[in-house]
Amino acid sequence: MDRQFDVVIIGAGPAGLTAAIYATRANLSAAVVEEGAPGGKLVKTYEIENYPGIKKIAGVDLAIELMEHGLSFGAQLESGTVTAVEDDGENKIVRLADGRSLKARAVIVATGTKERELDLPEAQRFTGRGISYCAVCDGAFYRNQDVVVIGGGNSALEESLYLTSLVNKVYIVIRRDQFRAEASVVDKVLANDKIEIIYKHLPESLIIEDDKITGIMLKSVEDGSLRKVACSGIFPYIGADASTSFLDKSLLDERGYLLVNSDMSTSHPGIYGAGDVCQKDLRQVVTATNDGAIAANSVIKYLQKH
Ligand SMILES: Cc1cc2nc3c(=O)[nH]c(=O)nc-3n(C[C@H](O)[C@H](O)[C@H](O)COP(=O)(O)OP(=O)(O)OC[C@H]3O[C@@H](n4cnc5c(N)ncnc54)[C@H](O)[C@@H]3O)c2cc1C
Repeated sequence: MDRQFDVVIIGAGPAGLTAAIYATRANLSAAVVEEGAPGGKLVKTYEIENYPGIKKIAGVDLAIELMEHGLSFGAQLESGTVTAVEDDGENKIVRLADGRSLKARAVIVATGTKERELDLPEAQRFTGRGISYCAVCDGAFYRNQDVVVIGGGNSALEESLYLTSLVNKVYIVIRRDQFRAEASVVDKVLANDKIEIIYKHLPESLIIEDDKITGIMLKSVEDGSLRKVACSGIFPYIGADASTSFLDKSLLDERGYLLVNSDMSTSHPGIYGAGDVCQKDLRQVVTATNDGAIAANSVIKYLQKH
């Protein structure tokens, strides 16, 4: 028999864990389903300097604090990947990849985003051995070597700064002639003499020798000329896509993000969204936790009415 909860929260990142705090403190029974490590993207983040009240904290430490706090009022953590959310008229049925399913009167989708992968021949084969989407997880493998970071947003620059504590040199490759990141982070990057910025270039191909990545070929967006950069590691931070493949397309915008109202409700009664998975302008820990609190509060009101 499917286990029954008042609310099933999908995703144990900052949004889902905050929703768990608010739901369980209001005496709702809650399950939080997570396919990876609780804490979400925080686990892959070196340092957080902009979460109010905490001047600086390692991403993984904030993840642990949030997980302990999120589960401390009785929410149950369920390990698994959600593959579908159905509605039988009375309950939502949350289906998991391993065949289990959970029943709930309401669902909060807090599945965040997934990093976009480098679209070059052989890139998939070298993921985990030359190409990494997590500097915090894999940076140490490239100690005293040269690496390339691709991208000009906050994540790319913050992780480049982290990598400079380990590697010999970081090349940052960006398509434009300026960054999209916060000014304070850009200033730190520009002042760091271990970083060289390669403006107005795009990745063209991997350079592979003896079945190892030894460099990357870049192409100028201005004149199409090629430039070879020797490196042993490549860290692409080239954007992310919403993790919404298990949801009905009618709930999503054209880019796949979950459409929500100001109370975090979707167009399907009893299904709510929170965090990076939603259509929004600013994807940060503070906005994810904000959404999680509002979504749980809306679920409380919804369950009182139904
Ligand atoms: C490198 C990097 C640096 C960053 N630096 C900062 C910073 O300095 N300050 C800041 O405020 N923000 C920063 N961010 C952004 C911040 O991490 C995110 O905005 C925040 O984690 C979003 O929280 P979330 O709960 O919405 O999603 P996530 O943290 O992405 O959590 C979503 C969770 O859902 C799980 N999930 C997904 N699909 C399923 C499924 N089908 N079934 C079960 N589980 C699923 C995932 O495994 C994940 O654990 C950074 C992000 C990155 C990548």
